[in-house]
Amino acid sequence: MGKQFIAVVQCHLVKQRCSGYLCERAFHHRLGGFERYPTDAPLRSMHLTCGGCCGRPVQRKLANLLKQIRKREGIEKDQVVVHLSSCITKDNHHGPPCPHLEYLETLIGKLGLDIVRDTTLSPRSEHLRGEGVYAGGPQE
Ligand code: SF4
Ligand code: SF4
Repeated sequence: MGKQFIAVVQCHLVKQRCSGYLCERAFHHRLGGFERYPTDAPLRSMHLTCGGCCGRPVQRKLANLLKQIRKREGIEKDQVVVHLSSCITKDNHHGPPCPHLEYLETLIGKLGLDIVRDTTLSPRSEHLRGEGVYAGGPQE
């Protein structure tokens, strides 16, 4: 079934200083990790944080979301996809990826949700990764 609802999970620590604007911009313009979705697709989205290290709260947050949207709007879990923000998934000038990345994916996977890594990706950081300055793939 096609995706109707995107839950963007962001780093709780990073969100203490970041508005999340670049994630929102990437979603709105279907850039970076959101390139896969057509610009005219009527997708809903919401942003939430992992809840803090080690990320365990995200499971209950997402379980609550699934319960609410199923009850109120009939949206099933296979219509929902979780995007992990690039500050969780990628090495960048702010810091390395989340040390609990795989644990987060395990928690979310136990809810039966599809997971996609990345949100906003900057050409500069992608270039630096290509140069080996940052480990892994691109980020803002
Ligand atoms: S990926 Fe960037 S814009 Fe999104 S929450 Fe992390 S630091 Fe903020
Ligand atoms: S578990 Fe990872 S994503 Fe969550 S606050 Fe800690 S470092 Fe950030």
